[in-house]
Amino acid sequence: MVGEVTILSEWIPEQMSPGSVFVLENAGDVGDTNDPYWAVMACPECGTLGLITRKQVAGLIPVMCGSSQCSAQFFINDNDIVVRKPS
Ligand SMILES: [Zn+2]
Repeated sequence: MVGEVTILSEWIPEQMSPGSVFVLENAGDVGDTNDPYWAVMACPECGTLGLITRKQVAGLIPVMCGSSQCSAQFFINDNDIVVRKPS
């Protein structure tokens, strides 16, 4: 698993390598009002793209990979990806 977040300033799908984050242009406008969608992230383990919410970007709640082939769970801690230990 990649250990660092890479923020992309432009949406270039080919550059969405594992750990890449692209902040949505309408961040905060979509999804739950308390925890709206904020960015697209490529899973640091397998590269599957998924939407992440404001609280996930802030590291308050863990990100879970959306792929059924991958069980990655992690927190975003500033620019670091911290693997969530299975409890
Ligand atoms: Zn994954």
